[in-house]
Amino acid sequence: MAYRVTLIPGDGIGPELVEAGRRVLEATGVEFDWDVQLAGSEIMEQEGTPLPQRVIDSIRQNKVALKGPITTPIGTGFRSVNVALRHELDLYACIRPCKSYAGVQSARYQNIDLVVVRENTEDLYAGVEFEANSSEAKEIIAKSAGKINPDAAISIKPISASGSRRIIKHAFDYAVANGRKKVTAIAKANIMKFTDGLFFEVGREVAKEYPDIEYEERLIDNMCMQLVMHPENYDVLVLPNLYGDIISDLCAGLVGGLGLAPGANIGEKGALFEPTHGSAPKYKGLNKANPTAFILSGVMMLRHLKEFEAAERVERAIAKVIEEGKNVTYDLKADRNDPTAVGTQEMADAIIAAME
Ligand code: NAD
Repeated sequence: MAYRVTLIPGDGIGPELVEAGRRVLEATGVEFDWDVQLAGSEIMEQEGTPLPQRVIDSIRQNKVALKGPITTPIGTGFRSVNVALRHELDLYACIRPCKSYAGVQSARYQNIDLVVVRENTEDLYAGVEFEANSSEAKEIIAKSAGKINPDAAISIKPISASGSRRIIKHAFDYAVANGRKKVTAIAKANIMKFTDGLFFEVGREVAKEYPDIEYEERLIDNMCMQLVMHPENYDVLVLPNLYGDIISDLCAGLVGGLGLAPGANIGEKGALFEPTHGSAPKYKGLNKANPTAFILSGVMMLRHLKEFEAAERVERAIAKVIEEGKNVTYDLKADRNDPTAVGTQEMADAIIAAME
């Protein structure tokens, strides 16, 4: 029976990556019944919202979605569709593996195998913001005993024990299920004692339930340096939302760039798979972007669907194509202007050929 999966093409480089990924996934022989749902700025013009209810309903019903990136205008305009989807569906756990593939000329390290587990629903991404000079902002400023400038805009950073517990537990469960040895919790608890302090406090409690997994804590600033200097010392990382977002891109950079970094957003009611990267608007329609992060997100989806053999086959084919280094996109070359780089669809074709 075919799997019914919500397929969101997104915008920017999204539609071309989705096309490449769809072809690779179908070439495994696993059958899909794609429920294509459009969202983003173009839909905003037609339907008055960038995230129509039908998209959310489709994911609720199918419980599995594969998504291309969606642009978020900076400063003004609508709230991020990506963040809103995670909120609406309570997809609280964002899992982003960063793994070395042999042959990536742009990679600065070899033998990296890190997993970023990012909390997806709380923190400064909760969407509780007050404009400068609004009555709400003024009310908070009045209570701040002179700590906040009178003309400040304010974003609220909620971190709860329940939200921290479920994401940290998810990181430990992931470690157990995947034969990992260590979980590192990361925050800035020396400065934000109540919010980030609570995250660490819950981390210590949860760690007691998993005596076979090592647990440690790092401050986010130190962690950035540690990751750049000694990434091999780390295994599973668990972080509140904002730090997790930033560290995800840093870890992608260690293994060769965003073109290689897949992701999954998981909750009790569903799972949405999408790469770490955004819509890279400057490459839109150029058949230039690397499809690997999107295809690897599809591999994570295959594993979620328990199609392990198909997942292995796709991942082996990707590794082979990258190692051969002939049919890869510009970002995996030592010189980004290397004229032998191929396009998005050609790399997908090579992956399909390597599977056969
Ligand atoms: P981005 O990830 O889109 O791109 C940053 C740079 O990374 C690109 O210029 C490119 O050099 C490189 N890159 C990204 N994906 C690549 C790929 N597949 N192959 C090769 N190189 C790749 O980040 P940005 O420019 O900060 O954001 C662009 C838009 O995407 C913004 O509107 C942002 O809000 C949105 N965004 C969406 C998501 C999502 O849909 N989940 C995630 C992040 C950003």
